[in-house]
Formats: sequence, C-alpha cells, structure tokens
Amino acid sequence: MKYPAVHNVIAGSPGGASAALPAIDVFNPGDGSVLSRVPLSGHHEVDLAVKAAAKAWPAWAATPIKERVQVFYKYKALLERDIASLAALITEENGKIDSEARAEILKAAELTEFACSLPQIAPGEVLEVSRGVECRIERFPLGVVAAIAPFNFPIMVPNWSIPNAIALGNCMVLKPSELVPLSAIRIAELLREAGLPDGVFQVVHGGKEAVEAICDHTGIAAVSFVGSTKTAKIVYRRATATLKRCLALGGAKNHLIVMPDADVEMTSGNVVASMSGCAGQRCMAASVMLAVSNVDKIIARMVLKAKAMVPGPDIGPVISRESKDRIGKYIEEAVAQGAKLLVDGRHATVEGREQGYWLGPTILDHVKPGMRIAQEEVFGPVLVIIRAGDVDEALRIENASPYGNAASVFTESGGVARRVMERASAGMVGVNVGVPVPREPFSFGGWNESRFGVGDITGRGSIEFWTQAKKMTTKWNREDGTNWMS
Ligand code: NAD
Repeated sequence: MKYPAVHNVIAGSPGGASAALPAIDVFNPGDGSVLSRVPLSGHHEVDLAVKAAAKAWPAWAATPIKERVQVFYKYKALLERDIASLAALITEENGKIDSEARAEILKAAELTEFACSLPQIAPGEVLEVSRGVECRIERFPLGVVAAIAPFNFPIMVPNWSIPNAIALGNCMVLKPSELVPLSAIRIAELLREAGLPDGVFQVVHGGKEAVEAICDHTGIAAVSFVGSTKTAKIVYRRATATLKRCLALGGAKNHLIVMPDADVEMTSGNVVASMSGCAGQRCMAASVMLAVSNVDKIIARMVLKAKAMVPGPDIGPVISRESKDRIGKYIEEAVAQGAKLLVDGRHATVEGREQGYWLGPTILDHVKPGMRIAQEEVFGPVLVIIRAGDVDEALRIENASPYGNAASVFTESGGVARRVMERASAGMVGVNVGVPVPREPFSFGGWNESRFGVGDITGRGSIEFWTQAKKMTTKWNREDGTNWMS
C-alpha cells in the first residue's frame, strides 16, 4: 500500500474515528496495485461533519464576501503551484494521463477564478420604487450544504461546487467517490493552507450509506450531486424528500452529427479526441457519431488516428476491472448484433503494467439506433457510428435519447449548424467542437435525464442555487399620507 489509509476531515483535522470504520481498498487502475484504503462512513460520521460545519457557519456567513474570496485567490495559486504532484496523484488513483490530469486541475483553477469574481457579479439589486421607497434584493447563504462527487474528475468536479458554495457563505461537507478519495484530502489540505477557517469544509468518505446519510440529514440545506443517472435519481428523490434543494447531474450519451461538408482533418481529430480523452470516461465524451450521407473519408482518417494511439502515453486505463469487463460486453453484444468493428481496443496492454485496466479506442460502424450500445451510457473509449440519410434523421435519433448533456455538429454550413443548435435535445451544444464544455462564466448543465433539479451547477447559474434572496423594502421619507404599501 503506497499511501496510508485515508481519513475523514472534520473541523480541519483527521476525524470521525475513520480508523475504526469498515474500509475498502483503493486501486491504481494503471497496474491494479492497492494504493490505499478508504473508510466507509455512515450516519454518525456525516452527523459529526454537519455539526462541525454548523459550528463554523455563523462566523463564516458574517465574513464579508470580499474577505471570503481572499481564500480562493490563494487556493487558486496553490492549485497551480502543486499542479505536478496533484496531476501525478490523479494519474495514480484515476488513471488519466498527465496532460489530462493537468487540464483538469487548470479547469479547477478557472472555476476558482470565477468564485473570486463573485463580489463583482453577485452584489444584489436596488431600485427606488417610489419617492423615498427602496426595494432591494440581497442574497444570503443557505447554511450547511453538501457535494457528492463521481470518480472521473477527482479534482475538477468537487471544485464545480466548493469555491462558489463556500465563497457565497456556506459551509460544506464533501463526499468524494470512494474510488478516488486521495485527491479530496489534498483539496482539504490546500484549502486549509489557503486560510479557510476550520469547519468551513469537511470531507466524509464512503459510498451508498454516506450518501444516504447526507440526503437524510435535516441539518443540510442543499446538495449538489454528480454521477450516473441511476444514482442521480436516487439522490434527487431522497434529498428532496427531506425538503432540501438538490441539483443532481447524471450520465450522458452524447451525439456528434458529422455532415459531408465537414473538414476532414479537423473533424476526424476532434471526434477521436472526444471519444478517447480520459479513456472515454467523461460525461461530455462523444459516444454516438451520426454519419450523415457519405462521410467515409472522415471515418477512414478516424480509424487511422484511433489505431495510432498507444495505451499508456496516449490513453489511460479505465477505472476498474468491472468497468473494463462491462465495456467489453457491450462491444461483444454489438458485434453479435451485426455492428462492424473498425477499431478494436479490447486487447490493449502496457508492458510491465499488464494488470492495469487497459482498453484502447474502439470504433463500431453500422450500429442501429435500437441496439443497447447505441442507447445506454458505455463510459469507456468506445464510439458507435450510426448512418443517417440527412440532418433531420440524425436529429430524430439524437432527440430520442433519454439523456441530454451534449451534442455537436461538424459542418461548414451556418444553416445546418443553427438547425442543430436549435433542435438538439441537449443542454450544451457545439459546432465543430468535440467536447462543448462551456467555459466560465457560462454555466455547466445538461437537460433531460442528464440533470435533475433547476439551474446549473457552475458559473452564474450556481449563484441562485447556493443562496437565497431576501427582498427588502425601506421607506425613508416623512410623508404622512397612506397607501397600499403603508
Ligand atoms: P456513480 O453514480 O456510481 O457514483 C457517484 C457518487 O454516488 C459516488 O460518490 C458514489 O459513492 C455514490 N453512489 C454510488 N452508488 C450509489 C447508490 N446506490 N446510492 C447512493 N450513492 C451512491 O457514478 P461514477 O461511476 O462515480 O461516475 C460516473 C458517472 O458520472 C457517469 O454516469 C458520468 O456520465 C457521470 N458524470 C456526469 C457528469 C455531468 O456533468 N452530468 C459529470 C461527471 C460524471
């Protein structure tokens, strides 16, 4: 075991009797070795964390926002200072290659930068509504809030919630994925080094039981969740049952529409990068390519590019053996149903690291819309190509998906691009972009079964979620007449 067992962080210190809890191994997906052990917390540990956060909250909420964000200016600098070691840790526990891990940390820094701008963009509103009478809106924090994260972005996704929620005056309990718990400890250390007072941020490790305890705890006012649609539904139902605010982001099945006029080199490079980046374990990854009319030249270039990728330096492993087996079964079933395997990544391996969960880019052509691989989230470096006669047929296939995170079109035609942007049933759409992630200050969030709840998780949208508005009316005049507002 390379690292000591992971512990909960409560009021700034290792806490919650982590050592006495049942625990599970944390694996390095690159070689299958055991990195550490993670405790499985329950109601008691969540309650300790909530109590610590509630104790810290009055002083933190009373701290002016311009002072609160000073912590995040420092935190951003620390993320940048430690980028090499943080990236190495992400690679160890998640499997991502170094450049992808660094990109994730830089995105966390960008999210933090946005939080630093909150004093400028979230100051409230004021208007003189009649002589001497003023209406104003001020935003107030909610209290103790929680964030529940998935395995695929150990630093970035927790930072979708942490800087904004805390800068806006809340105290937080983070429940990271039990598959990647080490990065969360580093986040807690960096926040403390940046000057965040103890108790403002807690980490509680675990799985289902810890999540259920968060959903049930009446001391928590709001929960953000990011993970699969199956779990998002459970969390949304359970958290709102105790009348919490909840924003639950789920899984995805993203469609890229490729038109015959698309640029061959740019399109083939972008599609392959989108489906294989982070080993396909991105909620924004290309999953289905809708090949309109004849785009065989583009497909031929994609095949060459995908075949040239070397597992290890160019593409990391998937998260677990179960994941690798599950993805393999999807491919096997599609082939048995008549799909044509253009690139087969199932036999990928890395010399000296044969026990890792390696899977190369895999491309299947002539997939039918009704096949399981065309409908369900595979979450691996697998792209299915469905042939479509025209853009309207492609849009019908995209619209039929229950998910709605992202969609993109590759074309040189402004009219076609506009049609897809208007009609795709997805919260984030792109033109000639493989991964249409909005940059700050634009908010991140899908539609349909990719998001439950109202609003978006990052950017301006998050201000509404992490605060409540107070509407204030004041009269400072000495008129003695009365009216309906008297
Ligand atoms: P997951 O749903 O298995 O786990 C997410 C979190 O929920 C973890 O913290 C886990 O401990 C907890 N959890 C798991 N099962 C639970 C249960 N039955 N009850 C209560 N809690 C439970 O997701 P994952 O495998 O860690 O992450 C991959 C998924 O996340 C993919 O579906 C991906 O599309 C999705 N994702 C979505 C977005 C988005 O923005 N929409 C972003 C990143 C990842």
